[in-house]
Amino acid sequence: MSVLEQIKEKIEQSNKILILTHENPDGDAVGSSLAFMHGLKKINKEVTVLIPTINNMYNFLPGYDEIKSEIADPLEYDLCIALDSSDIERLHICKPYFEQIKNTIVIDHHITNQNFGDVNYVNAIASSTSQNLIVVLASMDIAISKEIAECIYTGILSDTGGFRYNTQSETFEFAAMLLETGIDITKIYRLLFDMTTEKRVRLLDRALQRLEVLEDGKVAFTFITQQDEKELNNEDGDHEGIVNYGRNIEGVEVSMFAREKEEGKYKISLRANEYVDVSQTASKFAGGGHLRAAGLELSGDIEQIKQTVIDELKKQLK
Ligand code: 5GP
Ligand code: MN
Repeated sequence: MSVLEQIKEKIEQSNKILILTHENPDGDAVGSSLAFMHGLKKINKEVTVLIPTINNMYNFLPGYDEIKSEIADPLEYDLCIALDSSDIERLHICKPYFEQIKNTIVIDHHITNQNFGDVNYVNAIASSTSQNLIVVLASMDIAISKEIAECIYTGILSDTGGFRYNTQSETFEFAAMLLETGIDITKIYRLLFDMTTEKRVRLLDRALQRLEVLEDGKVAFTFITQQDEKELNNEDGDHEGIVNYGRNIEGVEVSMFAREKEEGKYKISLRANEYVDVSQTASKFAGGGHLRAAGLELSGDIEQIKQTVIDELKKQLK
């Protein structure tokens, strides 16, 4: 049986389904989760999307209000589906649920995926998990409604940075098909990329004040602390996109952005422009991701963390 057939079978044999995604969910994580929720409800499944913390910038997505921040008993579920997560650790506080539920499916597009489900559909060539979901839904004969299309388009737009990265001709073909359902792509683009909040701009301001350009102009680095987010009353996810400012500086190959997620523990985002394979760098520190966008976690003093990662990046800098 093909992987798609196995997914179909597992879903058909289940009634109560739990959908999980990675911590600090981005547009692809939230979009694919809600798209699958809508799709599975169409075939009369009882579906819960569990996302403990989410930025309310995604509140325009259909089904956003149905997202649960906690569940009572994971053992009520027959099947758990992890989306957009390359390894089980990415599920963060939801990891025990994935471990406890009897049947599991992983759908993802990370080259570093660890195939941690019973069935794993990982197509790393695809722009996004949302794009892969189109194929999964088609194999199950679930039609793409307007609400599903809105969620999937958001996921694709988010992970491709507006069709800039990881975009295949297929991505445009899928996008054209989604557009046919009548979705408002101008609105989605604006809400995803242009609209911001004052708190987000203030956080960006802090990061930019600390921005350093190092290694002969090839590496940009900045960070924010828990204290910053507390003082500015930020929401989880308000840091999203800060890493791109360093990346956009002429001459910079790699932008590194660190966010203190727990005291002394930093989540590091890496973005490359042309040739550095940051997924390789991230993997050295038990992180992962894609060729030009990856992440990892390190604990300790921020100056030391900066130097440790830069020393690793230097092996690839030309
Ligand atoms: P971001 O920097 O936006 O958090 O993540 C960039 C890419 O790297 C995303 O595809 C994300 O899933 C992946 N990524 C980020 N952090 C980690 C991590 O700690 N472990 C793994 N395996 N992948 C990560
Ligand atoms: Mn993704």
